[in-house]
Amino acid sequence: MRDVGRGLADLVLPPLAHDSREATAAAGLTPDAWSRIKFLEAPVCDGCGAAFEFDGGAFAETRCAACIAQPYRFQRARAACLYDDHSRGLILRFKHGDQQQFAPLFARWIGRAAADLIEEADAVVPVPLHPFRLLSRRFNQAAEVARPLARQARLDYLPDALVRTSHTDSQGGKSRRGRRLNVKTAFAVTEAGRRRIKGRRILLIDDVLTTGATGEACARALIEAGARGVDLAVIARVRNARELTM
Ligand SMILES: [Zn+2]
Repeated sequence: MRDVGRGLADLVLPPLAHDSREATAAAGLTPDAWSRIKFLEAPVCDGCGAAFEFDGGAFAETRCAACIAQPYRFQRARAACLYDDHSRGLILRFKHGDQQQFAPLFARWIGRAAADLIEEADAVVPVPLHPFRLLSRRFNQAAEVARPLARQARLDYLPDALVRTSHTDSQGGKSRRGRRLNVKTAFAVTEAGRRRIKGRRILLIDDVLTTGATGEACARALIEAGARGVDLAVIARVRNARELTM
């Protein structure tokens, strides 16, 4: 139902209402491609950022049933858009194609979607790539988005707070349990990071939320190292993240 409503809204509202024509064009995004992106706007689940199918008004729960039954290790999550056929190409081009011109645009998208999380955050930490991956991919897409986001929000940017401690397999094609085992001990807080996150509220940045296992592993490491709280903000989330988890 929401999708139909959003499709209509796209016809009615100018597709460049949020982003300037220059910014979307500079990122290689045509107005048509832009209009197909499904931005996730309130009301969304406070725990996982999923769009609520129905707006329950004043009596609405703030969390979806899955987040109430089995909360994530991070406190809250927001995603700028849905990870679907229309956003996947853009994000994969950004991730694997060195399309760094998307970074400021994605940072602004997250800035809107996660505005209330940003307001309460003290520092921004990107999910790190393993050094081997960094070599082959040449840049960390989460860091590329986190840096301009932190600058816009005037928050501390801590790119070296987290490191990967083991070379995890690709998360693709794994169940949530498999992904959890795969990443459980994959992240650690550095000595320098420990001093800078202690007692502070951290906004963790990643590109895509699928099962949430990576975000949970990072959140666990940050909390154990003394962070006061951890929220997660991503460019895109799959529609049924919690259904992948069972
Ligand atoms: Zn939820």
